[in-house]
Amino acid sequence: MQSLMMNSQLMISNILKHAEKNYSKREIVSVTADNPRHRYTYQDLAVRTRKLANALESLGAKFGDRIGTLAWNDYRHLELYYAVSGSGMVCHTINPKLFPEQVNYIINHAEDRFIFVDVLVMPLVEALAAHLPKVEAFIVLTNKVNMPQTTLENVLCYEELIADQSSDFEWPEFDENTASGMCYTSGTTGNPKGVVYSHRSTLLHAYAGALPDVTNASGRETVLPVVPMFHVNAWGLPYATIMTGAKLVMPGPKMGDGETLQDLIETENVTFSSGVPTIWLALLDYLDKSGKKVTSLSRVTVGGAACPRAIIVRFKDNHDTMVYQGWGMTETSPLGTFFGLQPGMEDYTDEQITDLQTMQGRGVFGVEMRIVDEDNNELPWDGVAFGALKVRGPWVIRGYYGMSQTPGEEGCPVDDKGWFDTGDVATINADGYMQITDRTKDVIKSGGEWVSSIDIENAAVSHPHIAEAAAIGRYHPKWTERPLLIAVRKADREASSSDILKFLADKLHKWSLPDDVVFVDELPHTATGKLNKLALRKAFEDYEFP
Ligand code: ADP
Repeated sequence: MQSLMMNSQLMISNILKHAEKNYSKREIVSVTADNPRHRYTYQDLAVRTRKLANALESLGAKFGDRIGTLAWNDYRHLELYYAVSGSGMVCHTINPKLFPEQVNYIINHAEDRFIFVDVLVMPLVEALAAHLPKVEAFIVLTNKVNMPQTTLENVLCYEELIADQSSDFEWPEFDENTASGMCYTSGTTGNPKGVVYSHRSTLLHAYAGALPDVTNASGRETVLPVVPMFHVNAWGLPYATIMTGAKLVMPGPKMGDGETLQDLIETENVTFSSGVPTIWLALLDYLDKSGKKVTSLSRVTVGGAACPRAIIVRFKDNHDTMVYQGWGMTETSPLGTFFGLQPGMEDYTDEQITDLQTMQGRGVFGVEMRIVDEDNNELPWDGVAFGALKVRGPWVIRGYYGMSQTPGEEGCPVDDKGWFDTGDVATINADGYMQITDRTKDVIKSGGEWVSSIDIENAAVSHPHIAEAAAIGRYHPKWTERPLLIAVRKADREASSSDILKFLADKLHKWSLPDDVVFVDELPHTATGKLNKLALRKAFEDYEFP
């Protein structure tokens, strides 16, 4: 028997329609290259987004076209999110910080017809334009006065483009499974791969992201997404906030700048913010140095990489701000797990709570999670067994753009039981808290046992002379692989290999202790700032243990 409920499609444009009617006066504050503090209301957002939808039509953009953005977090990028997806086109956010050849590949692979570009990213576009035959025009996200000089011919000005457009536009309704957005993973191996979101996946993800045990977004909150809008849709915040009527504050190109972040938080009364660990280190260092405060900031989300304990403790002790660690991926929209305390934990000590905060959090409804052994058998949630982390759910990828979507086939990331292999290795404890112990390809397989490279690295960087460290597996005649630690010393520090090994001896299981420590001046990183273990394994290909 079929239900008798309406079959309304979950449309991204419905968020905007609801917001305009219900929260029209709520504010959106942005830093942009042409205005250090732009402010307008949800009403303005809705009106300008309709003008932009008409402008896209006037350019000849059609249903299903990919429209690229190379832009920071600000109101114009937000207008693009809603106008492009709302019209049935695909908002393809591109990370301007990737290597130029990756940006080049991504734009051509997605076949973007138009690119909306921030003034500050123009040099990159000018360098690449000759290699982007499918791009018909570049639209610069600024007004006429601030239009940059450029060598390119097919360049338009955003404000001029929308100025004379009508503010009437009927948002079309279509199948909720239509593609709404696209984001490429940076990929340390091979070419970047395209993840394609739908209206349905985006809306369900926004509902889940707004839940009290996740971001608790509401009209009572002021939210500062520091995670970029080119990075998994700023973790969905541009949807969850507008859906719930939160005040939105966006830092534009000033994302890693502690001074701007502190000023925005304090003057706009930001209550909640989100970003990767490096952002928070920059802010905390600035606060220490300046003696300034972030009095309104009650919660921050940290994700994208493991959150060091020091960030959790410094926020709590110095600023009374609670850290919520989350785990996710471009392929999971990204919400997978999120920190939260459970009933029965009221008497936990600060130390116990911090221990939980350093883990990656609990599964959010909508994402099923399991860990499996090498034969794909499910492992127990006992906090000890660790295996490949697999997930499934309505906002989890089932195939990459232009690659196989047949489970089990080469290039398809889903196994024949319908689970997406995250490439992470994790434990899950009896309370459901997940902890990443490694990436599958980085795990060190020694004598049939798995050794966590992350455990070794965390222990090594707690040595006062070590600035950064990476552990990789290297060939060993008896154990197949043994851990090698590659470390960078802090300036003017002299710890030797044997000092480090002695230091590690009571911090790691005997089996996890590296067989050797090698010092280098610096470690290789990927375009998104993660340790590039592939490059390290190559560099130490011929290494032999003493
Ligand atoms: P991002 O662009 O955010 O790095 P990617 O999809 O490129 O997203 O990378 C996702 C990977 O980042 C995950 O598979 C995991 O290895 C790592 N990651 C994300 N969040 C965390 C976290 N809280 N702790 C540890 N690792 C994390």
